[in-house]
Amino acid sequence: MMPIMKFVDSLTPTTTKQEVPILFHEPHVETGFRKIHQPWYYYLFSLFQRHNECMNAWTHLIALLFCLGKFKSFSEEFDLINDPYMLPLVAGIMTTVMLYLCSFSAHCFHNQSELMHYTWFMIDYAGIGMYGLGCTILHYSYSLDQSLIGGILHDIAVPVAVCLAVTVCVCCSVSKVMYKRPYPFTRKIWQLSSVGGIYFLLIIPILQRIYLSIHDGEKWDSGLSHHTQQILWFLSAGFFFGSDIPQRFFPGKFDFVGHSHQIFHVCIMMTTFKKLDAVYEDIRQNREKYLMQLPMPSFMGTIGAVLLATLMNIIVVSIFHQLAKSKLLIEPKKKE
Ligand SMILES: [Zn+2]
Repeated sequence: MMPIMKFVDSLTPTTTKQEVPILFHEPHVETGFRKIHQPWYYYLFSLFQRHNECMNAWTHLIALLFCLGKFKSFSEEFDLINDPYMLPLVAGIMTTVMLYLCSFSAHCFHNQSELMHYTWFMIDYAGIGMYGLGCTILHYSYSLDQSLIGGILHDIAVPVAVCLAVTVCVCCSVSKVMYKRPYPFTRKIWQLSSVGGIYFLLIIPILQRIYLSIHDGEKWDSGLSHHTQQILWFLSAGFFFGSDIPQRFFPGKFDFVGHSHQIFHVCIMMTTFKKLDAVYEDIRQNREKYLMQLPMPSFMGTIGAVLLATLMNIIVVSIFHQLAKSKLLIEPKKKE
């Protein structure tokens, strides 16, 4: 047997639902729970073990690797370091890496303890907000119709997106700390409405292009095809996130493969791939036409905005980490 397989076999075996605190229970998932309070490296190496978070971690680790490959090809075609018109693309790349790194780490390490469960998922929410900001920067820099340029929405989109990126982290963290398992559907409303808010802002330029194409007969280009596919993948992601399908009809049958959260991850992966393809097409097609005539992108409107929102989200996660800590200290006393 290969040494790595021997090592994986020697890892702490998974356990039953009854053996882990209720915080780790997932609706309609019955088996394959990792034990809590193990050393951190156990959770990393558990990537090679069969457990109910394994596919959730792998789907976004693979997505991260694919995206890094795409970024490499961008760097071969565009001057990402010296061309100021590429600053929005660099900001978009940064937030995509954040999205996947945060999500992968959350699913990989959250079983370590109840406090880590809260904290890692807050980091995951921060990553989602950051990705929304990155997409806003990309769309309002490369993917907008010329009629939007210089308008009020164009001017305020990035500052509003910074606020919404933090709002996503706050609302989703509230939903995590405020509710107890089994979670009510209102918890998903906290999550879906905040994510929906930033998605609405970032998708306006694309919806306008689709409208102009259908209503005014503007050209339907390849960039718009990729954007439309991205919207469909995002709507599918929302459906699987909110529906608990298919496991709600077959409890315990999708614990390892086919769970709705895994399908949600794949849909998000496809959303980001299609987004990158669309933005690539938009840059290629519009670069000479009008993008180079736009005012030069500023540092604060791109990478600076990403750094600012990152800092604010670190503060949000730190505050909610403390709140979760207090909640965990109070809860055992309540039971006594
Ligand atoms: Zn996830």
